[in-house]
Amino acid sequence: MTAPRNRGSAPDPGHEPDHRGAPAHVPSFHEMWQDLRPLGRNPETNGYRRYAWTAADTDCRAWFQAQAESRGLAYETDRNGNQWAWLGDPTAGGAVVTGSHLDSVPDGGAFDGPLGVVSSFAALDRLRARGARPTRPLAIVNFGDEEGARFGLACVGSRLTAGQLTVEAAHALRDADGVSLPQAMERAGHDPEAIGADPERLSRIGAFIELHVEQGRALAGTEHPVGIASAIWPHGRWRFDFHGEANHAGTTRIEDRRDPMLTYANTVLAARKKARLAGALATFGKVSVEPNGVNAIPSLVRGWLDSRAADQDTLDLVVAEIEKAALERGERDGIDVAVTRESFTPVVEFEHALRDELGRILGKAGRADLPVLGTGAGHDAGILSGAIPTAMLFVRNPTGVSHSPAETAAEDDCLAGVTALADVLEGLACR
Ligand SMILES: [Zn+2]
Repeated sequence: MTAPRNRGSAPDPGHEPDHRGAPAHVPSFHEMWQDLRPLGRNPETNGYRRYAWTAADTDCRAWFQAQAESRGLAYETDRNGNQWAWLGDPTAGGAVVTGSHLDSVPDGGAFDGPLGVVSSFAALDRLRARGARPTRPLAIVNFGDEEGARFGLACVGSRLTAGQLTVEAAHALRDADGVSLPQAMERAGHDPEAIGADPERLSRIGAFIELHVEQGRALAGTEHPVGIASAIWPHGRWRFDFHGEANHAGTTRIEDRRDPMLTYANTVLAARKKARLAGALATFGKVSVEPNGVNAIPSLVRGWLDSRAADQDTLDLVVAEIEKAALERGERDGIDVAVTRESFTPVVEFEHALRDELGRILGKAGRADLPVLGTGAGHDAGILSGAIPTAMLFVRNPTGVSHSPAETAAEDDCLAGVTALADVLEGLACR
């Protein structure tokens, strides 16, 4: 295979993998946060619109490169547009890598992604301040296009690297204006020629740790600002088609109607109930109606179900029960119901050995009995877990709100996350 292209400053072969040579002043967590804050923020909503390969994304990428270079780290962009900042020799093998993403969903919050990247730089600074001497290479990564807001597929940067997205499929991705992914990359200054699987790069990584704001309230109300991830829940999307009969809203007697909206509405209620009883999640977040007229009984209602659960059996059961409820209600309403599974992602269990090691390291550092949490959200760490040992740390989110401008975390909790990440990096890379 070809060597990964190095589009940034070349790794300095004489760079010592320790604190010597580090600049005396580097931006603090707070300063980095303030620097990043205005980039890609919509002034009307206060939400972030940092979509892959747009001007806002380019600004975030320039910020990352500047942070790397201000610390004397060797900066590079890999063939898939992910950014790396290295302390130590990237080719030595067994690297301990941390990081997350800087892109956002439409009108996303400030923390989902950036908290992991900013905390990574701050944790590295903490290690250097402690005088810790890494015996393994360390790297900070910003994975491109994690949210999939522009091209409709999440985790494109890590999927390409892990070989979970073929080059052909990547070329077929288009944004709402018909711009293809390679065109968008090229316009943003990244040569798309070499996109594709990068097993050689992955083979040089011994562990990947992603710190992320919690997207839920498991830590809220506990004494713990930080938790460890156990698994990413299995999840999928199902399309429910409810076929009825279009007719006049003013002249069709109630008893003569075949109204699919009624069946759909009952299915939404059933989904909520079945999910609640099983401890799972079920959401109809998107719906389309034909003919979509105020004074017309619909002929077709199409609703998309997103469902997630801690384990596959529970998820299968909940979706089967929702489907059954839809079919039964459809029979009563004279509606034909068809259900199609559109996508499915099985459970991702983070490697137990690495998770246990994180628990031990943090226990020794005074954080015993950290909560171990499952999550319903996807992450680059989940994509990479098939190829390399990965783990995640979650930072407490008082409201649990995510993918919204209301997403937040207390600065003290963020700094506790930095300390935990620094402890983990020291425990893994400085033995
Ligand atoms: Zn994220």
